Amino acid sequence: MNTDSVICPYCPHHCRLSEGSLGFCRARTAENGRSVPLNYGKVTSIALDPIEKKPLAHFFPGSRILSVGSYGCNLRCPFCQNHEISQSSGDLMRELYDLTPERLLRISRDEKPEGNIGVAFTYNEPLTSWEYVRDASELLHEDGQKTVLVSNGCFTDDVIDEVLPVLDAMNIDLKAFHEGFYKNCDGDLETVKHFIKRAEGSCHIELTTLIIPHENDSHEEMDALSSWIASLNPEIPLHITRFFPMFQMTDRGPTDIGRMRELYDIASSHLKYVHLGNV
Ligand code: SF4
Repeated sequence: MNTDSVICPYCPHHCRLSEGSLGFCRARTAENGRSVPLNYGKVTSIALDPIEKKPLAHFFPGSRILSVGSYGCNLRCPFCQNHEISQSSGDLMRELYDLTPERLLRISRDEKPEGNIGVAFTYNEPLTSWEYVRDASELLHEDGQKTVLVSNGCFTDDVIDEVLPVLDAMNIDLKAFHEGFYKNCDGDLETVKHFIKRAEGSCHIELTTLIIPHENDSHEEMDALSSWIASLNPEIPLHITRFFPMFQMTDRGPTDIGRMRELYDIASSHLKYVHLGNV
């Protein structure tokens, strides 16, 4: 066994990394006996988006936010909407820009006249390089700008402790409310629930559930999912979004609109703010 190898502590995969090897997320390797991000400051996408697109409906509504993404993800959802960047390693990316936290700050500042309030870390799974999220967010905060994270929430306390103090808002996926669904994505529901519990009360949070026919669209599951959220805080907004065939999941059509409305009604019986998306 390579004595320089290390167990990465940052998500439930706990990959054994050695110099030159890639973790399951394709974004981290080992250097000097530590897990380090290869995608630090490597940007694949950058755009000034309406904040509602994150989606965040209750955080500076009507504003815009500079949104940046890299590559890599620690999950393997067969319905991923951003699979070109999330399921890729850096050497396969055609366009990759170096964007230091300092340069990101300057670009974000320049976009202020366009209604920009700060930076959202999004598109791929940003916490595969939580160090970049932390470093850039610290700078943005010193400049009075807002910081937003869009994440699958499948990370350990080591990561949460580093990023929570520097984030103003998050949209976290709560993809389903049974472990079988998460196992199919190589994720872990209990880790995500713990992440949401930690984030609640520390910053503004909103949650998103993509409703996929025959996977997570039962009345019972929505009842359990939304009542669990309400047990944390009934004022946490929930976005229920409609599935369309995507990536490796093309064996079924879009979610029935009538079913979306039924699930909306169930969630609304527990939660104050429920939003339908893609309908
Ligand atoms: S963050 Fe990446 S390298 Fe670390 S345990 Fe998770 S998948 Fe593996």
